Amino acid sequence: MAILNILQYPEKSLSQPSVKVDVIDEGILELIKDMGETMFHDAGVGLAAPQVGVNKRVLVYDSHAMDPDYDEETREVTALINPEIIAGYGSFISEDEGCLSVIEYRSDVKRYVRVTVKALNIDGKQMEFDADGILSVIMQHEIDHLDGILFIDRISSLKRAMYKKKRMKELKNQ
Ligand SMILES: [Zn+2]
Repeated sequence: MAILNILQYPEKSLSQPSVKVDVIDEGILELIKDMGETMFHDAGVGLAAPQVGVNKRVLVYDSHAMDPDYDEETREVTALINPEIIAGYGSFISEDEGCLSVIEYRSDVKRYVRVTVKALNIDGKQMEFDADGILSVIMQHEIDHLDGILFIDRISSLKRAMYKKKRMKELKNQ
């Protein structure tokens, strides 16, 4: 197991669509383990493979993120392979959304209230489930990553331009 390096905006590969996984082999299972460890190490509730430099349709999330008595003991990594949102219902503002690949920035983002997700689990079994609340936001945010979309692509162009400017300035001063 290893803690992986998380790519940061404006890294190009973050905006590239990822390819489907054909075979769930050792390499994919190893990637999932490392992604889970990295997600918890960085106190995230979701992580998509392109964020660690692998443009494959794999994500991990903490399936206990919604638990009221959530702590380090109850958290659990769940992996989805080739996940798709097949239906979305309603809309609301996800407040102060953030991303491990977009440092020091949070914003409100318009999201579906509930989504139906279709995906393979690590055993290659096809599943379909509904997610709402924070899990719904995690699904939309992480599946966006697999399509090369960051949450800052879903905010106003003015806000995005301001973040871009700030980030470029920081990079220049590094
Ligand atoms: Zn993210």
